[in-house]
Amino acid sequence: MRESIDYSIGRYVDDAAAILSIGAESPRLDAEILLGMVLRRPRSFLHAHPEDALNPLQAAKFEALIRRRFSGEPLAYITGTREFWSMPLRVNRHVLIPRPETELLVEKALARTPEDEGIRILDLGTGSGAVALAMARERPKAEVIAVDNSPEALRIAKLNANVLKVNNVEFLESNWFDAVRGQKFHVVVSNPPYVIARDEYLMAGDLRFEPQDALAGGDDGLECIRSVIDRAHNYIVRQGWMLFEHGADQRRAVSRMLEAQRYYDIRCYQDLAGHDRVTECRFVE
Ligand code: GLN
Repeated sequence: MRESIDYSIGRYVDDAAAILSIGAESPRLDAEILLGMVLRRPRSFLHAHPEDALNPLQAAKFEALIRRRFSGEPLAYITGTREFWSMPLRVNRHVLIPRPETELLVEKALARTPEDEGIRILDLGTGSGAVALAMARERPKAEVIAVDNSPEALRIAKLNANVLKVNNVEFLESNWFDAVRGQKFHVVVSNPPYVIARDEYLMAGDLRFEPQDALAGGDDGLECIRSVIDRAHNYIVRQGWMLFEHGADQRRAVSRMLEAQRYYDIRCYQDLAGHDRVTECRFVE
């Protein structure tokens, strides 16, 4: 007699969680999210119906997704979405997966952005559009310009703006400030690439699947930050603010560069893990 095989939701989740526990940080959660995606049901459905059976097509789809996750592909690329600033954002391999610590950049930038009409905000290296879209939604009267040098990233950013119905952001293909020559902004924000190139860290976990040119900031990790700081003063109104994200060990190097360019009110903020993560500064002349 053939043994009956258990095709239930509960059994599939248990097995997948066991497989993923070898590499993933939250194996059960990942398994549930992926099964929810296959079944087009929320996770609560899985908990309420552990005995329901998967049909063979659903089982095959789920197994394929678990294989991708097992190989290390980030969950956000498999599901194609990641939440940032309470917005569901579309992501793919052309953009960095928005990080929780980047919400600190948004929070601090908002604190420096008046709610008035006519405020202009520039987001450098927008990727999925995360920072620009968060700023635009919080400051609906502002005009946000978001640039990126990757056309593929801009496609995703524009898609996100459409889906979220945000219409006060303009997306431009640009190498840093190139496409906004002659323009001035009240607030300049950026989450630039700042990891040291060839750092082993880039080869670990999720990062090896992410676009390296969105992560690596040259031999010392500071190349992009340096070129932004060197040029930014031409694009900031008098008394305007610039805020950017950087590496946990880059605080001193960053503030020295800013002082050399006569920025003032330089201040660094720590992320939730206690790491130096965002520096703000002001431009006088
Ligand atoms: N904070 C990211 C990470 O280390 C790096 C993001 C970036 O380079 N802008 O995972």
